[in-house]
Amino acid sequence: MKHYDAIVVGGGPAGITAALYLCRSGISVAQIEMLAPGGQILKTESIENYPGFPKGIKGWEMADAFAAHLDDYELDRYNDAVLKMEQVPGGWSFSVGKETIVGKAVVVCSGANPRPLGVPRETQLTGRGVSYCALCDGNFFRDKEVMVVGGGNTAAGDAIYLSRICKKVYLVHRRDKLRATAIYHKRLEDLPNLEFVWNAVPRKLVADEGKLAGVRLEMLETGEERDIAVDGLFVAVGTEPNTEFLGGALQCDETGYIVADESCATEVPGVFAAGDVRTKFLHQVVTAVSDGAVCAEEAAEYLAI
Ligand code: NAP
Repeated sequence: MKHYDAIVVGGGPAGITAALYLCRSGISVAQIEMLAPGGQILKTESIENYPGFPKGIKGWEMADAFAAHLDDYELDRYNDAVLKMEQVPGGWSFSVGKETIVGKAVVVCSGANPRPLGVPRETQLTGRGVSYCALCDGNFFRDKEVMVVGGGNTAAGDAIYLSRICKKVYLVHRRDKLRATAIYHKRLEDLPNLEFVWNAVPRKLVADEGKLAGVRLEMLETGEERDIAVDGLFVAVGTEPNTEFLGGALQCDETGYIVADESCATEVPGVFAAGDVRTKFLHQVVTAVSDGAVCAEEAAEYLAI
């Protein structure tokens, strides 16, 4: 069993920043990251609202640059899913693969994952036409017709990206206007191969030989059904926080986000939550990075007591 001053769970912008600040404070750090460093930015084509990049930066480029910033610091990195977090004398223990590690302080930056639509056959057709990542899977639908569902920034960004690859993009939203940032609206309206489908929700997925062939929509204003033939369905209806491993150890709100204020402190002394996994007004890369710095300083102060 290995012991650390602090354990950072997650390797997205919040986790990388927290680890950086903790290392710079001379604290022994273990960072647990399930996949490659970067978190959700790896699924984002271009990040246009992070200061310093007026022309935008590719998500993977930003992830690489963030991760490289840790290269000169000493920390132990564990590439595995966290299975369990448990309170033990002197801190918190984590099961990571076959190992158990213990930290006096914990910074939870486990982020969030795409929320499923919740329609029948969605799981069976995932990877067979249904996708949650336009950037990862868009190329499979080159010159084909696809649908994006959602009205937020992810749906808007995905629709713009897919319009460059696909023959036609239907953007389906359950309201008559998007919740996405205003800058996206005009760009979407100007796309010749994009059709908005307002006040509509998918009710049924149509398959042919085990692959998605179309989506049946309910038109909310009229109650009528509309069938649209598409090869790809990109679900962008928000995210769900990754908190399963907590096993109820921390208080979460009704939507599952860890309750923590701007100091990133949870109700449990020594445990902090940063980035997309915590309750907050604005989930962005820039606020995740800010959280990472704040909670690292808070954790350092906690460890000094
Ligand atoms: P989001 O902002 O929560 O938007 C989710 C969208 O899906 C909403 O339009 C919602 O409709 C719709 N929706 C939810 N459940 C649905 C269902 N069951 N069926 C149909 N539609 C459903 O999620 P997001 O776009 O993934 O963004 C998540 C966070 O990341 C946000 O804070 C966002 O600002 C941030 N983000 C930022 C950028 C950027 O700054 N460029 C890019 C990507 C993400 P309603 O509108 O009716 O609620």
